[in-house]
Amino acid sequence: MPHRLGPMQTLPAPMRRLAESETVDYCIVGVGSAGGVLVQRLARAGFRVVALEAGPFWDTERDWVSDEKGSHELYWNDLRITGGTHSLALGANNSGKGVGGGSVHWAAFTPRFHPSDFRVYTEDGVGADWPISYWDLKPYYELLEREIPIAGPAWFPWGDPHGHPYGPHPLGGVGDILVRGCTRLGIRSVAGGPVAILSASHGDRPHCIYRGFCLQGCKVGAKASTLITHVPDAITHGAEIRSHSMASHISLRDDGRVNGVEYIDHDGKQHFQRSRAVIVSGYAIETPRLLLNSACSGHRHGLANSSGTLGKYLMAQAGNVVAGRFDELIRLYEAPPAHALSEEFYETDKRRNFARGFAVQTVGPLPVAFAKQMIAAMGAW
Ligand code: SF4
Repeated sequence: MPHRLGPMQTLPAPMRRLAESETVDYCIVGVGSAGGVLVQRLARAGFRVVALEAGPFWDTERDWVSDEKGSHELYWNDLRITGGTHSLALGANNSGKGVGGGSVHWAAFTPRFHPSDFRVYTEDGVGADWPISYWDLKPYYELLEREIPIAGPAWFPWGDPHGHPYGPHPLGGVGDILVRGCTRLGIRSVAGGPVAILSASHGDRPHCIYRGFCLQGCKVGAKASTLITHVPDAITHGAEIRSHSMASHISLRDDGRVNGVEYIDHDGKQHFQRSRAVIVSGYAIETPRLLLNSACSGHRHGLANSSGTLGKYLMAQAGNVVAGRFDELIRLYEAPPAHALSEEFYETDKRRNFARGFAVQTVGPLPVAFAKQMIAAMGAW
């Protein structure tokens, strides 16, 4: 499959418009990390594709600012029923609303899984083994690391040791502290990535300028998001991205095959896009929500829910933050947040009384986020 990307564009070139009455080949719900890549691959393969996105089509020059408070619209903070009858607000930074989805405000940290992650039951007696191995995924890691592209150390020594297509970033203040501390304690560490952030220019995209606004969208375009890496190329190849279009129901024909998606536009008007196939790519909350909302005769408990487990067993990722006081000034936000780490404690160590392990990495909160973390920590004391 071809995978060379076109130059970065912040707004689409003239976009092909497909009529709702026309039956397209694919209707993709959600243009985030996965949906943004899928729409590009399918458009390049010659399919007629419409992608529905609940949020706006960001113009990085017009809409984004290098300011913490001014970037709150990147998150999907709408109230949601996630269990029981009371609505909850989703937290910032675990969701994304707008073309690019969460990939516009992720920290761009791109370590690979270790081979052992796929065999945790066999090797450690916990969890379940994956149905595929690391070696099945490895060619795709390598493909995307070249395509995005990834910058990082010349040699990453843990898991399946490997290098990176772009060279490492210079150390920021907090990374310097981590590497110096690890070195003093005899712990191996690496610096400068791996991150989906350019350490040198790539096509029309400039290299990183180290101001630390990665979680605010990266106005300059050094950080990868599908908004700038894949969606412009999808549009060039004939895909239509329909922003401000909130999917509400997937509809089936009498023979049980899908025939399209109902959605609501910015003005609350209902629409129906006819499609031969529907791909739901709306992250861990919105994907099951749409499938459950699409219950119909023959699928009374939602689509793709014959097991009854749709929307259940969601496991969140926990990240514990450790902060320390130093005599010297450390500008912890002046670099990509995740740029130095150690995976020395990643695998199971029989001397410890628990299975599996952990990684140690830098984070670089901006002042408001840092203050919130400190207030939360003080509340927990
Ligand atoms: S530090 Fe680099 S990647 Fe982060 S916002 Fe600035 S230019 Fe973008």
